[in-house]
Amino acid sequence: MKAIDTHVHVNFPNFCDDFSAVRQRWLAAGVDALIHSCVHPGEFSAIQAIAQACPEVFFAVGLHPLEAEAQWTEALGDRIRSLAQSDPKVVAIGETGLDFYKSTARSVQLAAFAGQLEIARSLDRPVIIHCRDAADDMIAVLRDQPCPAGVLHCWGGTPQQALQFVELGFYISFSGTVTFKNAREIQASAQAVPLDRLLVETDCPFLAPVPHRGRRNEPAYVISVLQQVAALRAIDPIALGEQTSANARRLFQLPQPIDPHPVPALALA
Ligand SMILES: [Zn+2]
Repeated sequence: MKAIDTHVHVNFPNFCDDFSAVRQRWLAAGVDALIHSCVHPGEFSAIQAIAQACPEVFFAVGLHPLEAEAQWTEALGDRIRSLAQSDPKVVAIGETGLDFYKSTARSVQLAAFAGQLEIARSLDRPVIIHCRDAADDMIAVLRDQPCPAGVLHCWGGTPQQALQFVELGFYISFSGTVTFKNAREIQASAQAVPLDRLLVETDCPFLAPVPHRGRRNEPAYVISVLQQVAALRAIDPIALGEQTSANARRLFQLPQPIDPHPVPALALA
């Protein structure tokens, strides 16, 4: 089985103690590329160090919508831009987007999102989009400010909304939530999205898929996500792994897999 985990946060403190073992497990599971997402600028150098140490790890730089109120400035935009230009392992801008679930800072979120879309557009990089309780506003923004390409990560909307994003040129990435028993809309979305626009992710350490639900999530578990999506579509999981990997390589312009070297000691402070 081969898979690409298109959304991880393995810099989080709960990977401090056993990072090497976690990495051995994702390599053994057939995960030969990972996209490390970024939430705020305090993480930039730690994520950069992980990508430098692990040939199969690529990353995004950006500001999460829930961090936008406190942290979005033009200077931060410049920092995101220059890091994306200088480090060849930066393959996307993000995660950015809109999260209206509990936030009232809509205008700041919209400004930070527009700023990052503009960076992505000018550098011709895809965006990694976080969208919670904001799909219709998001569709309106993307119609108004077209972006070269991108992915709606950890899909949680309806099949109709998913297809609207597909029509706008976006990929849809499914996480462990697609394995949850009551996730009917997400499962229907996984059946509706065209095969060449499907991606899989763990969003670890959050939202571990069944049968690991309730535990810390890790990249090796992306195989469970893949198996669930394959079952929903009644197709071979190995073929789906190849298809979603090809999709991820196309979207993020990843090189072909390289033989990973042994893990050097990493300080994940
Ligand atoms: Zn994330």
